Amino acid sequence: MNQDQPRATDVLPAKGCFIDNKWVPAISGQTLPVMAPAEGIVFAEIAAGGREDIARAVAAARTAFETGAWSRLSATERGRLLSRLGQLIEAHFDELVALEARDCGKPLATARADVTATARYFEYYGGAADKVHGEQIPFMNGYYVTGEREPLGVTGHVIPWNYPAQMTGRTLGPALAMGNATVLKPAEDACLAVLRIAELAAEAGFPEGAVNVVPGLGHEAGAALSEHPGIDFISFTGSPQVGTMIQTAAAQNHIGCVLELGGKSPQIVFDDADFEKAVPVIVAAIVQNAGQTCSAGARLLVQRSAWDSLIPMVVERFAKLRAGKPDDAPDLGPIISAKQRERVAGYIAAAKVAGVPVLAEGAVQEQAPEGGFFVPPVLFGPVPRDAELACEEVFGPVLSALIFEDEADALALANGTEYGLIAGVWTNDNARALRVARRLRVGQVYVNAYGAGGGVELPFGGVKKSGHGREKGFEALYEFSALKTVVIKHD
Ligand code: NAP
Ligand code: MG
Repeated sequence: MNQDQPRATDVLPAKGCFIDNKWVPAISGQTLPVMAPAEGIVFAEIAAGGREDIARAVAAARTAFETGAWSRLSATERGRLLSRLGQLIEAHFDELVALEARDCGKPLATARADVTATARYFEYYGGAADKVHGEQIPFMNGYYVTGEREPLGVTGHVIPWNYPAQMTGRTLGPALAMGNATVLKPAEDACLAVLRIAELAAEAGFPEGAVNVVPGLGHEAGAALSEHPGIDFISFTGSPQVGTMIQTAAAQNHIGCVLELGGKSPQIVFDDADFEKAVPVIVAAIVQNAGQTCSAGARLLVQRSAWDSLIPMVVERFAKLRAGKPDDAPDLGPIISAKQRERVAGYIAAAKVAGVPVLAEGAVQEQAPEGGFFVPPVLFGPVPRDAELACEEVFGPVLSALIFEDEADALALANGTEYGLIAGVWTNDNARALRVARRLRVGQVYVNAYGAGGGVELPFGGVKKSGHGREKGFEALYEFSALKTVVIKHD
């Protein structure tokens, strides 16, 4: 740890690792500092969980799954616990909002939406737990065959720092609903709300070992979890580079994984679209969470015939955007860390040096703290198709506008990156909307909308470098379970 980092006067002490419904210090005794990115100061510490802590957590989950109180619960009882956890999250709303906002630097309004969605995940999966039916399969005479959905066992979960609370609900909700015992490794950069939710799970009545959370560094605790032979499945959200490591580790242990690895999602605007309706959504889709969203609408693809009327409207809005600290009602917060800020600023500087035109730039609020990791939003365009900014995930408030000619060209451009997570299509021609939606190589398509407010109910995931498998919605319940075929001969 860098001893020179400025510290708050009242640094929140590390609680530990949450294993078997108890706080236990990391076996190494080490802790990690947690920065408030809007202030640039250390405001909390977390346990630096490592390989041995992960082993303890996996053992606790295994006991809960094989012999413990968790495995004895019915689907209805599991559902009730999940619903109760959702209610406890609502009951501790302000506390969780404050934690999430300070930890991630998010505007309070965003943190409120995130905590609302987190409660909603547990409510949704609480309601779903006892509604996953098996099936009866017609077979030869004299046989009775069923297909039954079973939990996988112990599931591992590695989540990023951009939406810690929501990601917890999104990944633990379906896993617990199906009866798995879970071990979660949140991101060291932001996980205080996650740790609090683990505590609330115990308060809701989840038995020991069902929900375990081990904070720590990715290459230590995260790697240890993904490589542990005692897990039966792993869910990962984060960078493609780490996604490859997770999938490699899963292959060594012959287990499955769901990977959600970000994107370079297009928002496609045809010349017949309603620009007045489209523009606020287009801007929000990249500015939300300061662009640190896997499904950020980072590429604005504009039909040449629409460019001259649409772009000035986007420019006007973009230039007014202000970054600031959570309680100053900014349009966006800071970048999560100094390291990530350097990465984002590096993309912006390189594009400027390469001569990519800047169409508009926002600013940082005057009262924003000096030490905060702020990056003013930038709109570039027209961005050449082979430029870095047209293909690579920046993970910051940078919107790249590109020109296309017609429908075929729009599809070629939209599908022309290594990623395939989500896409937006703006048009008033319904037949075109359907044609384009069907040919986009992504996991979700929005027509005359984008992102649809969290979309707890909507199956979500990617193709290509954006990953595979689905979370959210009912689909996640299938992801976190396996079908067993039972054949009974009855004569
Ligand atoms: P990252 O390294 O992939 O982090 C995601 C999670 O994986 C964190 O919990 C991290 O732990 C953990 N991790 C890191 N190395 C690991 C390993 N060897 N084995 C197992 N787990 C490991 O992402 P990042 O470095 O924070 O961000 C880099 C880039 O990734 C971003 O600029 C963005 O492009 C992309 N990203 C995408 C998403 C998304 O939602 N799809 C989210 C975040 C980042 P620690 O952070 O605690 O070390
Ligand atoms: Mg933080």
